[in-house]
Amino acid sequence: MKKPDFSALARQNIRSLTAYEAKEIPCRVKLDANESPYAPDLALSSQVMASLNRYPDPQGLALKKALSKEYAVAERQILLGNGSDEIIYNLIIAFGGPVLYPVPTFSMYGIISQAIGEQGIGIPLQSDFSLDLRKMLAAIRKLQPKIVFLSSPNNPTGNSFERKAIEEILHVSDGIIVVDEAYQPFSKEKSFIPELKRFSNLAVLRTFSKIGLAALRLGYIIADEGMIAEVNKVRLPYNVNALSQALALESLCRKTESRAGVKKIVAERTRVVKELKSMPGVESCPSDANFILFRLSNADAVHKALIRSGVLVRNMSVMIPDALRVTIGTPDENAAFCAALRTIIKERS
Ligand code: PMP
Repeated sequence: MKKPDFSALARQNIRSLTAYEAKEIPCRVKLDANESPYAPDLALSSQVMASLNRYPDPQGLALKKALSKEYAVAERQILLGNGSDEIIYNLIIAFGGPVLYPVPTFSMYGIISQAIGEQGIGIPLQSDFSLDLRKMLAAIRKLQPKIVFLSSPNNPTGNSFERKAIEEILHVSDGIIVVDEAYQPFSKEKSFIPELKRFSNLAVLRTFSKIGLAALRLGYIIADEGMIAEVNKVRLPYNVNALSQALALESLCRKTESRAGVKKIVAERTRVVKELKSMPGVESCPSDANFILFRLSNADAVHKALIRSGVLVRNMSVMIPDALRVTIGTPDENAAFCAALRTIIKERS
């Protein structure tokens, strides 16, 4: 039998798709994936360990109960996912397209739309990375998207979108508006969760990944229970494993620890912004998240030089010309990044 041409065998929409880049480049200082540098000190109970022969709770009821208390919403309004990525996937499977989002933004909205064979529509942000409300509203009216994704704070630009603009989009849209709050814990803006009472087409997406538990792969969505019921139909059975459910539950009981981590990251963000501002030729963008987007000439070469110095940041220049994105790490990691960047800039001038 001759080896099949797998690319030709793949569905048309998969052939032209590029896989999400989650490259593992070993580096001493890892500031590329918007993880928290602080791992909470959690432990699994003997009860969880003694039940490893059984499937996990298919609904994640204990965790949903804790989340429902935390956010004052009904348990039926919550759905858990193997990372919020999986929930984005399930939303698009359940409701289909067109799927609309501002660009640049989190690339999975577009990648998943294409993978499923739905139309993804990117509406450019303004030059200061704020929403182009006029264009967004016109596109929503004309194209009637089933789902609009708004990452606020936005990845990779770091800014939160104006609350009034999001509310206006909620008012005019007949489809679902997903406010992706992966980075909300680091923001000065309040969560949209209380707005669920006002807008039945709103869905708020959250994750444990950015607050110290990326390894768990655990995200959740809070929305109208009718919307949750539809997404639940396409959710794979036992999508969230027992270890992640138990550890996430424990982390919710020890909120002070994760809040302390967030506080340290926000304080460090101010310090790193100040440092970047003092470097010649570096333009940093205001950030409400646990990362900072910055621009400088020869970003590709600087990215490579940083890796050689043992510091890994994310090269965003395919999406935004001459842009790199640095995640806020521990004070020592941030100092190592700033020192390395300063040296590289000096050597190149
Ligand atoms: N939304 C946004 C805006 C993100 O940046 C990310 C991760 N980079 C995710 C969702 C997915 O997070 P996770 O699957 O780890 O919950």
